[in-house]
Amino acid sequence: MERMNYKDIKKVDPEVWKWIKEETKRERETINLIASENFAPFSVLSAQGSVLTNKYAEGYSFARYYGGCQFIDQIEKLAIERTKALFNCEHANVQPHSGSQANMAVYYSSLKLGDAILFMDLRAGGHLTHGSSVNFSGKFFKPYFYGVDKKTETIDFNVVEDLAKKHKPKLIVCGYTAYPRKVDFKTFSEIASRTGAYLMADIAHIAGLVAAGLHPSPHPFTDFTTTTTHKTLRGPRGGIVMCKDEFAKQIDSTVFPGIQGGPLMHVIAAKAIALHLASTNEFKEYQKKVLANAKILANSLKKLGYRLVSGGTDTHLVLVDLKPQGITGKEAVEILKRANICVNKNTIPFDPLSARLTSGIRLGTPSVTTQGMGGKEIELIVSFIHRALTNRNDDKKLKLIREEVKTLCKKFPPY
Ligand SMILES: *Cc1c(COP(=O)(O)O)cnc(C)c1O
Repeated sequence: MERMNYKDIKKVDPEVWKWIKEETKRERETINLIASENFAPFSVLSAQGSVLTNKYAEGYSFARYYGGCQFIDQIEKLAIERTKALFNCEHANVQPHSGSQANMAVYYSSLKLGDAILFMDLRAGGHLTHGSSVNFSGKFFKPYFYGVDKKTETIDFNVVEDLAKKHKPKLIVCGYTAYPRKVDFKTFSEIASRTGAYLMADIAHIAGLVAAGLHPSPHPFTDFTTTTTHKTLRGPRGGIVMCKDEFAKQIDSTVFPGIQGGPLMHVIAAKAIALHLASTNEFKEYQKKVLANAKILANSLKKLGYRLVSGGTDTHLVLVDLKPQGITGKEAVEILKRANICVNKNTIPFDPLSARLTSGIRLGTPSVTTQGMGGKEIELIVSFIHRALTNRNDDKKLKLIREEVKTLCKKFPPY
């Protein structure tokens, strides 16, 4: 915390300061297995706290609606060049404020309201912006859904193709929130071209793995690719849209002025830094460890009798089916919280329970790997999880685990 420039907050606003301090402490004393989170490096945090937040820069580099953008222009240009180099894409827009807005930009630029889109079902691993009825994607477009095969719990491409032939979607979306297996972009692109649909990959979760060359790249197979920058990519909260050159104009004009106003230049600078870091060898080594840790996580859980959706993982996350243990996802989150272990509840394919309760939890390794934890620590974490879940009604035991968790965390301070 000493390395963060919080002194001014403390002086000006002790109330907000108090909660930032508490949150910093929580992050330091908790094992964070939320697969969509990470610890952003100081350079990224600092860029977000920089004077760039002061600048209005509506428009794009060298074509702005405000004066004084000459330095801002260079930053956005860098972020775009780095995105193109890292992901090997033709065009990039780095302005989306979030992953959701990146997805919105694609749907609004390539479709008319009410057009059909083929998504993966939310309950099988898709995202809210993949056609949920409570989200713009489900309200303003006509969503159809593919799921996973009941037996393998992986995507059945025959089903995807049949649905695409039947419903004639204008866009097919692949790339997910809670799918532990690799996404086969090439096969999706073949189905899209046979059925006359555009293809979009949403690599929000796996962007860091893709950048490191440890997950197949969506390029050159997709028309559009969206991502967040704060998950495995380890940058600031935000989104990016990539696309083929032929869609560049329509994507840019949809992001601004279509759905956003001024870009968050402090965040775009932080994105540029994260993209630079993601191009280094250290980052590749980090992602290798993320994958190795996820494999150890999966195997250790299986050894203790836990059932994993699809039987394991090729990515940074595992999905645990807690039905055999007789615990709901919601209960597991509460129990583990008392042991200072942070996870999220998640529906599993064909889940009999609602999204509020769920039969599963999702566990990911990006955060603990950033802290420097390895196989030994992952095995220890799995033993903590198992002890907590099996002693869920024993306050004393849960408290003991919490103390052990804190001791482990002390050895691997994220900040
Ligand atoms: C996280 C996520 C998003 C949305 O990101 P936000 O920045 O929270 O809007 C979109 N798609 C997928 C697949 C995600 O996992």
